[in-house]
Amino acid sequence: RFITFEGGEGTGKSTQVARLVDRLHARNLDVVQTREPGGSQGAEEIRNLALNGDAGRWSPVTETLLMFAARSDHLERTIRPALEAGRWVVCDRFADSSRAYQGAGGGTPAEFIETLDAAIVGRTQPNLTLIFDLPVEIGLERAFGRGLFETRFESKGLEFHQRLRRGFLDIADAHPERCVVIDADGDQDAVEARVWAAVEALLP
Ligand code: C5P
Repeated sequence: RFITFEGGEGTGKSTQVARLVDRLHARNLDVVQTREPGGSQGAEEIRNLALNGDAGRWSPVTETLLMFAARSDHLERTIRPALEAGRWVVCDRFADSSRAYQGAGGGTPAEFIETLDAAIVGRTQPNLTLIFDLPVEIGLERAFGRGLFETRFESKGLEFHQRLRRGFLDIADAHPERCVVIDADGDQDAVEARVWAAVEALLP
C-alpha cells in the first residue's frame, strides 16, 4: 500500500505522517516512512541542489526536472523495492507537490508535468493521497511565525500560496479515486482522527 501526504505550508502534514506511521506500526504492519524531495541518498542530494540557494535560482521547468530526477531515484531505490516486498510506504509529499508547486504555483505547463509523471511514476500511483487543506494565512503563520512570515510572504507572495492551495484542491477533484481532502484546521488529535478515517478502508 502506498499513501502520500500533500498540502501547502504549515498544514501539519509531517506531524500527521509520524502519527499515522505509529498507528500502522501498532497494527504490526511493516511500514516505510519517507519524504520528497528526498527519500534516497541520491534524491536527498538533489533536494539540497533544488531547495538550497536563491529562491529564483532554477526556472520552473528546471526545478520540475530536478524534482522528477529526485523522484526517479526515490522510486527506484526506496519506494518500488518496498512495495514489491509487500511493505507499506507512507510518503511526505510526492508527485502532486510537483503539480501544485511547479505547476499551479510556478507555472510549469501541466502537460509537461503529466508527461514526466507517466514516464517516471507510471503505474506506481498512490493508493491513497491525503490532501491537507488550510486557509493560506493560517498555514503561513503556523509555518513561519510572525517574523519569518514576512520574509517568506515577500519572497514567494501570498498569491503563490493561494495558487498552491487551489492547485491541490483541483488535484483532488481530478483524482477522486485516490484523493481525500483533509481539513487541517483544529487540533492535531482531531486531524489525526480524520486521517485515520480515510486510511481505515485500506487496512487488511
Ligand atoms: O514538506 P515540506 O513542507 O518540508 O517541503 C519542503 C519545501 O520544499 C516546501 O516548502 C516547498 O517549498 C518545496 N517543494 C517544492 N516542490 C516540490 C516539493 C517541495 O518546491 N515538488
